[in-house]
Amino acid sequence: MEDTKSLKKEVAKLKAEIDVLKSKKNSSALRSQDEEYQESQVRFRTVFERSRLGNKIISNELKILQVNSAMVALLGYDNKEEIIGTVILDYAPVDCHKDWRFLQQKLWQRATPSFSLETCLQRKDGTIIWCQVTSILFPDKGETLGYTIIEDITEKYNLRTQREEFISVASHELKTPITSLRATLQVISRIVNSENGVNENLRTFVSNAQRHSDRLNRLVGDLLNTTKIEHGELVLNTNRFTLAEVIDGCCSHIQLAGKYHIRYMGDHSLQVVADQHKIDQILINMVNNAVKYAPDADEIVVQVEKIKDFTKISVIDKGPGIPPDKLDKLFDRYYRADENKKQVSGLGLGLYISSEIVRRHGGEIGVESTLGSGSTFWFTLPDNPELIHHVTQPAT
Ligand code: ADP
Repeated sequence: MEDTKSLKKEVAKLKAEIDVLKSKKNSSALRSQDEEYQESQVRFRTVFERSRLGNKIISNELKILQVNSAMVALLGYDNKEEIIGTVILDYAPVDCHKDWRFLQQKLWQRATPSFSLETCLQRKDGTIIWCQVTSILFPDKGETLGYTIIEDITEKYNLRTQREEFISVASHELKTPITSLRATLQVISRIVNSENGVNENLRTFVSNAQRHSDRLNRLVGDLLNTTKIEHGELVLNTNRFTLAEVIDGCCSHIQLAGKYHIRYMGDHSLQVVADQHKIDQILINMVNNAVKYAPDADEIVVQVEKIKDFTKISVIDKGPGIPPDKLDKLFDRYYRADENKKQVSGLGLGLYISSEIVRRHGGEIGVESTLGSGSTFWFTLPDNPELIHHVTQPAT
């Protein structure tokens, strides 16, 4: 009996000791959690403060809650206190307010977890700087704040503008002599082809000269179109036309050369409402690309299909295909997949221009490709001409 009593006492004592140990453990766990939190706060503050890029924390009303020294310097102020508590729109020229509102809308409506755009800010001395703004949302004490990194890209922006202006002026200047050259070559070609006894070599030279001048004309046309897209000047002139006729026309030069067979698949009577000249331009680019980048495959398929309210046009080749990681960049301006750069000439503009033309038509453009099997470049045109933007705006 005595033994049981003392045993019970012993157990109670042990339990009490365990409880004390447990509570100690809990409080040390809490302490270590707290320490970890403090450490991460210090780390965040260090990164935030020492970044060479402007860093700021903003609320959903675009109010500036915190800035680092780089941000103060970027805006041309002397200390943080002058900036904290103001709103970012105070530093944005009026034309750029829409950019910040767009960023606000994209982020706080949870449309995207992070957002990046180019816009302007005005420094204390009134000068304007171009900035690359990248923002992410993060939770903080029950609120959702924006962490924004701002890089001054004024120099890069000015260089880019100069390059675009140079391309615009150069391509305009080149256009007129190229047009005269092509007209002259056309006359010469007519003469050498209609007269008997003309040396066969001369005919070949003239035909080669015409081929090269056509190519030159296309390259300059691409540069001009790029400039037009940048300035929102790509105007669409739409009419109703039969796709098969346009496809025949843009493939005839390849059929004539004889090396490639172009197979048309689909309804020959299918009509669309679109800018015929620009659709022709897209098709020529896609078919020429099939020849350029799939030179060993002898058949190119051009397929037209009616899918719901859209017409889909695809150019299919059985070439080497394109690596998956490059597919989504193919429609970017000046982008060329590396392996082709040296062997095949081009500016990397054809698909960029095509994607802009299709976008203005209210359609979509894309590519599917399998390495070793070939590629399918496609675009769609809506039946509803109301989706077409006749007056064009630069892409945002
Ligand atoms: P360019 O032909 O002048 O380079 P494009 O914008 O027409 O410009 O094409 C961009 C890139 O897409 C090309 O450089 C090439 O790498 C790739 N590409 C286009 N079409 C094909 C194709 N049919 N097969 C493989 N690669 C292609």
